[in-house]
Amino acid sequence: MRLSDIGGEFGFIDHIRATFAAAKVNGLVVPLGDDAAVLDVPPDRQVVVTTDGLIEGVHFRRDWSDPYSIGWKAAAVNLSDIAAMGADPTFTFVSLALPSDETVEWLERLYDGLCDCLNRYGARLAGGDTNSTSSGLVITVTQLGTVPRGQALTRVGAKVGDILLVTGTLGDSAAGLALLSQHGAVQAEKVNKGVVQSHRRPQPRVVAARAARETGHVHAAMDISDGLAGDLPKLCTASGVGAKINAAALPLSEAVQSAAKELSLPVLDLALDGGECCELLLAVAPSDVEAVQAAVAATGTVLTPIGEVLRTGFRILGPDGADLPTERRGWDHFAP
Ligand code: ADP
Ligand code: MG
Repeated sequence: MRLSDIGGEFGFIDHIRATFAAAKVNGLVVPLGDDAAVLDVPPDRQVVVTTDGLIEGVHFRRDWSDPYSIGWKAAAVNLSDIAAMGADPTFTFVSLALPSDETVEWLERLYDGLCDCLNRYGARLAGGDTNSTSSGLVITVTQLGTVPRGQALTRVGAKVGDILLVTGTLGDSAAGLALLSQHGAVQAEKVNKGVVQSHRRPQPRVVAARAARETGHVHAAMDISDGLAGDLPKLCTASGVGAKINAAALPLSEAVQSAAKELSLPVLDLALDGGECCELLLAVAPSDVEAVQAAVAATGTVLTPIGEVLRTGFRILGPDGADLPTERRGWDHFAP
């Protein structure tokens, strides 16, 4: 079914409103359907806002991903940024640029994935924008959240001597992407479905981040969506410190270790450089590490020490203790 069969843009928006949008709930005074949404914020909380888009051909390919997963991922990458601030997701706005031949069925699956991910982490669809485009599909999500006043986790605040910790395991999503680009979807799934799923449906660390924030012990935090080795220097710059990573300590899943063999790539390259994941990086004083680990473990997420904060410089120590190169790691759209 084409969009024109359900009344074009306005028919489509009506359909989205009836099927996916939040009703008038706590915090949402005027829901999707008016010129703009009206939100209430409790006086003791602050609003946290982020936006991130996925562009066909740049961030996703229809032959590598299904529409449900593309919608899921558009939500997940935004929820990950909200999590990285220690905030609770609230309302979501979705801006679409649609090729003229887009089908209603495909878009419904996109919204299914998007809203399943949003709803799982406590967010609700509250509005958006719909346009047409003569090139590929663009889906831009704006995600709001709230955090107790003054308690947002930021990249600023890491202190010399702090321990650096990461959630989950590293490199899975990057390995999935590499397998998809080498083999295409059918073969990649046969070889290693686990890492392919990590790439398609990342799990934002909303619950783990809230638990970490509530300990009051997190000095700095960020999500490592551009890869640990690319993102850690950003946290260091923001905090005015240096850092050291112990490569031998990086948490690796069995799936990424076998994927690295299948790809003939060093697993450390995947773990250090691989982005596109929703894992979080935290800086915590040594005396508080156990408490933060316990709080996060209670939410079902492992938090692994991987290095420490130095006064200056950025070092990656290999498994044999020798320095590994640190240049040109991480994903940059505009890198030469
Ligand atoms: P306007 O022309 O006044 O900007 P629209 O007709 O674009 O209004 O949108 C009407 C309502 O539908 C608004 O509440 C808007 O937030 C919502 N909306 C529009 N497009 C989308 C979309 N793709 N997803 C979710 N909500 C949407
Ligand atoms: Mg209007």
